[in-house]
Amino acid sequence: MSIDKILEYQKKDFEIIKLERELENNEDKKIYQKMLGVVKEAQNKSTMLDKEANQLIQDYNNIKKSYNENLKSYGTILNTNLDKISENDLNNVNTVAGDLINNLSILEKKLINLAEKFNAILSEFEIAKKKYNEAKQKYILHKNAFEKKQKEIIPEIDKKKKEINKLESGIEQIHLLKYKQRRTDKIYPVFVPLIDKACGGCRMEIPSASLQKLKEKGFLECEHCRRIIYFN
Ligand SMILES: [Zn+2]
Repeated sequence: MSIDKILEYQKKDFEIIKLERELENNEDKKIYQKMLGVVKEAQNKSTMLDKEANQLIQDYNNIKKSYNENLKSYGTILNTNLDKISENDLNNVNTVAGDLINNLSILEKKLINLAEKFNAILSEFEIAKKKYNEAKQKYILHKNAFEKKQKEIIPEIDKKKKEINKLESGIEQIHLLKYKQRRTDKIYPVFVPLIDKACGGCRMEIPSASLQKLKEKGFLECEHCRRIIYFN
């Protein structure tokens, strides 16, 4: 059978492959996909900060409660009529009051510490928000640009596909099938000539027994690169 139809098919298909590659390697696509990652990262960061902030609020409430309780106890002691109690009890009151003051001072420090942590979370949150907004803007911009390109190229691909579909009837089924399998595996070109006893694709030399088979049948599958070598 004639190799011409196959080669014509392959040549036209290459125009489709070029357009497909153009979309695949599109810079806008790469940027918007990257931005999608940045957006998700910023979202995750915000969720994490939100959890941390909630924990801090809980801690704050616990400490505040404890602080108020201590403060109340201290108030009670201050209101005690010291004239009416024994010296022993007075000593006890002094110890308790000292402990309470100590507690209050510790709790105060904890509250200050929490406030500092809270501020740190807020500023981290601001950074995450800024990153999110910037990435989202960039994402939209480049996604739109890519979609615009898609709208140009996809109809072109469809048109060319219709053209090559018409050529399919002139090609042997088995060759067409093999062609399509290899195309899926991103092997191009699929049909290559024999060049100086070697595969026209990968340049691997063909053993003489196989060479004989190629001359008889007209086609041979390269054992190395799986291309179909044809013999004119
Ligand atoms: Zn080869």
